[in-house]
Amino acid sequence: MKRLISLAVCLFTVSTLCAQTQVIAHRGFHATKNSRNNTISALIHAQDLGVYGSECDINETKDGELIVIHGPKHGPYKNVQETDYAVLRATKLDNGERVPTLDEYLVQAKKNTKTKLIIEIKSHNTPERETRVVKKILAAVKQHKMKKHVEYIAFSKHVCDELVKYAPKGTKIAYLSGNLNPQQCKDLGYTGIDYNIGVMQKNPDWIKQCHDLGLTVNIWTVNDTQRIQWCIDNGADYITTDNPIETNRLLGK
Ligand code: MG
Repeated sequence: MKRLISLAVCLFTVSTLCAQTQVIAHRGFHATKNSRNNTISALIHAQDLGVYGSECDINETKDGELIVIHGPKHGPYKNVQETDYAVLRATKLDNGERVPTLDEYLVQAKKNTKTKLIIEIKSHNTPERETRVVKKILAAVKQHKMKKHVEYIAFSKHVCDELVKYAPKGTKIAYLSGNLNPQQCKDLGYTGIDYNIGVMQKNPDWIKQCHDLGLTVNIWTVNDTQRIQWCIDNGADYITTDNPIETNRLLGK
């Protein structure tokens, strides 16, 4: 009996030490209380839930405003990157909110920095524009004194490379596209991978490879119980999910 108890204690300790998987609310925690993705309310709900991070998508409008919206296609707009900010702002979302600016998002993020802001910088139509967007976002984050509370992700390799070049040392930068192996990401100066669950299940050994290289592993967008459990069991550092409640439950939180 004693041995059984000590074995149980031992297993519990090991599982506690390994239970490092953190939850990132995909586009904020929006599947609640009439919220919508990429809105201020979705960020507040993520903060209230106390998850590690709240992800959001940043696009630049035609006239140069940085806005939080999935895009480029959004509602009646074929391409928010080719639409003026005033036009987008004039239209209310169906829950009554309006498309927030990055500045408004940073103001809300600063109110509770226990939840990090995970900024996805969307791909734009030219490398020059992407470079400008990267620089403008870094400047905004600096101005709001939020450097320590923001992490970056992008599908565009050029965006990630520019982040490596221009972001302060120690900034977390993870690549989303899934077509580079861990060693390639490490060589490019990225701090992690943030890959689709399908890519990770095809390459499960990438998790250990990343950890051996000192890279973090984030997996998107994992919403169902079985696949959330797969990420936890395989030692993912972060799960990006529309279902943070279920992810918390499976993590025993
Ligand atoms: Mg996103």
